[in-house]
Amino acid sequence: MSIAPEGIEREYPLARLTTVRTGGHADLFARPSSAGELVELLRFAEADALEVGVVGSGSNLLVADEGFRGLAMKLDGALAQTERDGDHLLCGGGARLPQAAARAAREGLTGLEFGVNIPGTVGGAVRMNANAYGGDLARVLDWVDVATAQGAERRGPDQLGFAYRRSNLAQGEVVAGASFALAPADPTDVKATLADMRSKRRAVQPSGIKTFGSTFKNPDDPRAEGRSAGVLLDEAGCRGLQVGGARFSDKHANFVENGGEATTADVIALMAEGRRRVREHAGVELEPEVQLLGRVDTSELWA
Ligand SMILES: Cc1cc2nc3c(=O)[nH]c(=O)nc-3n(C[C@H](O)[C@H](O)[C@H](O)COP(=O)(O)OP(=O)(O)OC[C@H]3O[C@@H](n4cnc5c(N)ncnc54)[C@H](O)[C@@H]3O)c2cc1C
Repeated sequence: MSIAPEGIEREYPLARLTTVRTGGHADLFARPSSAGELVELLRFAEADALEVGVVGSGSNLLVADEGFRGLAMKLDGALAQTERDGDHLLCGGGARLPQAAARAAREGLTGLEFGVNIPGTVGGAVRMNANAYGGDLARVLDWVDVATAQGAERRGPDQLGFAYRRSNLAQGEVVAGASFALAPADPTDVKATLADMRSKRRAVQPSGIKTFGSTFKNPDDPRAEGRSAGVLLDEAGCRGLQVGGARFSDKHANFVENGGEATTADVIALMAEGRRRVREHAGVELEPEVQLLGRVDTSELWA
């Protein structure tokens, strides 16, 4: 192994960096706090043929029970901050989207309100093409800085291959920062919109539970007849269904909830049963939205 950059920790528990709180350790873990440190870590990983995994807020992430045999990273310091630049909000890839939305509101900038209920980071949101309430990340995204072992490169939204809950960012390509092009507005109005969105969300989604949000994508399949994944799961009798310590939430059937003792294997087994029931009930094949880190055995899901 080449000489590891400073600050790398070994056997780092990842479950606490995810919102569902399952999964094992990363062999190596680091918190880069500048673009330079990030590129140095990516170079080290490439030189040693180590897999790289970025953890944002872990709000859409399922870590293998056996952990991750590579270098996991969480962006920190300058890579997790926000800064106003005229009508733009410059954000580190590790900045949290709800905080960025709140900062924009305080600054009297509109356009980022949709982020208030997405409990992820800017980098995770770009990677996942996150959106909510018709707000569209691509519509306000001006550019992103993508770091690789070769250095950092600026890309526009049209270069990111955005589609429903996906982008073309590859393994080892890390969103170090992004700029959002916003418009001036009255801070009181923008704050009121945020408050309204928060309360609407509270009414329909469970809060205070260990979950990664939507488990499956809403299907693009005529047999679904416009029904969301949550409605299909509900109709197939999955609301409250439990496997081990994991269950589909009573309040929102597309949310998996860790009752405290769930393993990632429990979550996968529950997802497999949900998929099977929806296939039998409606003839629709649901596709997972949640991302995996480490070697998660998903064979049961596709059986
Ligand atoms: C209660 C709840 C509600 C949710 N509501 C919504 C919603 O309304 N709309 C929506 O779209 N999503 C929603 N989500 C899902 C989730 O918040 C989003 O997908 C979010 O964008 C994930 O960001 P993250 O930082 O948590 O990414 P993580 O879960 O940490 O990672 C997800 C993927 O992004 C990659 N990634 C993370 N950071 C970076 C980076 N800097 N560079 C490159 N890749 C990176 C990871 O490697 C992984 O592949 C919800 C989740 C929860 C728990």
